[in-house]
Amino acid sequence: MPELPEVEALAGYLRQRAVGRRVDRLEVAAISALKTYDPAPTAVAGRAVTDARRYGKFLDVVFDGDLHLVVHLARAGWLHYREAFASTVPLRPGKGPIAIRVRLDDGSGFDLTEAGTQKKLAAYLVTDPQAVPGVAKLGPDALSADLATFAAALRSRRGQVKGVLTDQAVLGGVGNAYSDEILHAAKLSPFALTDRLTDDQMATLHAATRRVLGDAVTRSLGQRAAELKGEKRSGLKVHARTGLPCPVCGDTVREVSFADSSLQYCPTCQTGGKPLADRRLSRLVR
Ligand SMILES: [Zn+2]
Repeated sequence: MPELPEVEALAGYLRQRAVGRRVDRLEVAAISALKTYDPAPTAVAGRAVTDARRYGKFLDVVFDGDLHLVVHLARAGWLHYREAFASTVPLRPGKGPIAIRVRLDDGSGFDLTEAGTQKKLAAYLVTDPQAVPGVAKLGPDALSADLATFAAALRSRRGQVKGVLTDQAVLGGVGNAYSDEILHAAKLSPFALTDRLTDDQMATLHAATRRVLGDAVTRSLGQRAAELKGEKRSGLKVHARTGLPCPVCGDTVREVSFADSSLQYCPTCQTGGKPLADRRLSRLVR
């Protein structure tokens, strides 16, 4: 799932490549992906792309006259920039991976795609990004929040730090993968409770958040957006590395179920060497 670093890189790529170009046409192939009907997709035609921004994990393509195409890529969505399209025939609504296509006046453009059968990609054509419910409820941005803002946000929600870090209403931008990386960098147990974190632990967590996300943005920007793959991140130390050695201490990275998914962590770095109990499993056993 694309998180803050990937979406930041996509916005950066669009700023370089698309800003200044005019839209020929916005085509909607997955009707269910476009969550708004007014303004209509035809309202984008003829407008110039003026900016590309990020709010949490949302991408905002800005057109002149204050029109915004705000996109949440969900689990399997992506943006593919095309130097040219094979055909000028408009997309027909169908079951393919392309949800929305934006054609620009130099023949280039981009496709918003979604793999798999579960279609969760959500696009909104709005005059104000705050009209998008997921954007309106976002907490402070994980990349730019200062320590005081970050600490207040995390302490506003009592719970396991893994869950609180990924709650978009608490902090915008962090998902399952980067929360594993941040907690590993901060040497914190994913099950630590937010209201029991000391000021020192909070400061370490804040610094780790900025460093992990900042490094990932730098790595993502180094790749061309077309080659960026949401599932092929580089530089991860624990996430999706169950059974492999921790690059910091050499202990084996472990996995435990969390919410409707699983998390990865290093016992030596994060939990005093003790493996975390799988609560879902132990509940079944009991
Ligand atoms: Zn370790």
